Amino acid sequence: MKNKIFHPYTTFTAIEKGFPNMVRGEGIYLFDDQGNRYVDIVSSWWACALGHGHPKVVKAIREQAEILQHSITGSLTHPKVLELAERLADLMPTPDRHSVFASDGCSAVEAALKIAIQYWYNTGRPEKCWIIGMDQGYHGDSLGALGAGFVDHFHKPFERAVTHHAKLPFPVPTADDPDGFPPSKAVIEQHADRLAAVIVEPLCLGSAGMKIYSAGYLKKLADCCAENNVLLIVDEVAMGFGRTGKRFAFNHADIDPDMVTVGKALTAGYMPLSACIVKDGIYDTFSDAPEDHTFYHGNTFAGHPIGCAAALAALEIYEAEDTVARAAGMAEKMKQWMQPLAELDCVKELRFLGMIGVVELKDSAQAQVAAIKQALFEQGYLLRPLGTVFYLMPPLVISDDELKAAVCALQQTIEDVCC
Ligand code: PLP
Repeated sequence: MKNKIFHPYTTFTAIEKGFPNMVRGEGIYLFDDQGNRYVDIVSSWWACALGHGHPKVVKAIREQAEILQHSITGSLTHPKVLELAERLADLMPTPDRHSVFASDGCSAVEAALKIAIQYWYNTGRPEKCWIIGMDQGYHGDSLGALGAGFVDHFHKPFERAVTHHAKLPFPVPTADDPDGFPPSKAVIEQHADRLAAVIVEPLCLGSAGMKIYSAGYLKKLADCCAENNVLLIVDEVAMGFGRTGKRFAFNHADIDPDMVTVGKALTAGYMPLSACIVKDGIYDTFSDAPEDHTFYHGNTFAGHPIGCAAALAALEIYEAEDTVARAAGMAEKMKQWMQPLAELDCVKELRFLGMIGVVELKDSAQAQVAAIKQALFEQGYLLRPLGTVFYLMPPLVISDDELKAAVCALQQTIEDVCC
């Protein structure tokens, strides 16, 4: 019988082989219906920063579910969404912010793109309607988000269907500029009159293979956008809430983006909720007087009460348990423990950013990737390599012993399969 689920990012070959049926989560572990235990070493698509089953988030969800399950935010409001919007504003460099809520990262990105375009329309510059992102950037799988990003390997079939304006090249450091910014500057200056916004994944292109660039580049990008009257959208969906060793990746560059998108770890991955956090100066142009500039955009589950309750609990835990500082400390240890991998013949490069540890294998090891993944799976590690790139992106609450064991398993397995 054919599979009834149209699985995301899953080959038919994988479906035929079959995969675990997960029934329970606890800490960094997932358990299948056969009683097998797996380490969720990529935090369930980078979302479960607090691991699974954190009692305080579970309690918040349960309590909210007993009071109010859903009530829309179109012309209505409710206490949890009000509180969350305040909290998110307070987390920004300046608190003059307004959140558009949605249910997944991609929808928050779509809101950001449309707000940028309508902002210029509202202010009498409708020709400024282009959005550009970085080459091989990823902002979700809706058609709008695909146009801003575009990962060749995933998105080829849609190439003709999405709007491709210019792209910022991935920064390559040079002797003249260690941040590799000049080629991006040239693109922005060339198209400034048409550009509504630039959107970037801050410091790390996740889906493109955890490609890391400098905070200096991000700072120069923010300055260049401001100088050229172009909005800057920083997409923190994957990096936000401590992953990089600071609360937001853009904090490394000490910038104040026009819009910030968040999702995934916003609720510690426990409920589908995302937000696009917008500066006051942009928000104010959406007034309906004298002309109607209302933002006619929304999602049914925008500001879902149970999602908001989960997010408020997660944000409280990040503060109370000092998750960000802890992650920064663990990141140093992970880097140290992973260093020996650099000595392996088949390894091209190691890369690190906070609690992201990356091992890129040489192209010649491409044929071994599936075997490494399978061998790690048999040891109970759920990795999702991107091409020849293996990465550890564990829950931020992972213990020293658990992380060390994962690094050892990765090293030993790569050695066994490749050497
Ligand atoms: N933006 C970034 C940077 C992401 O990494 C992702 C997903 O991985 C998204 C947006 C899309 O988020 P979602 O899968 O929740 O739609």
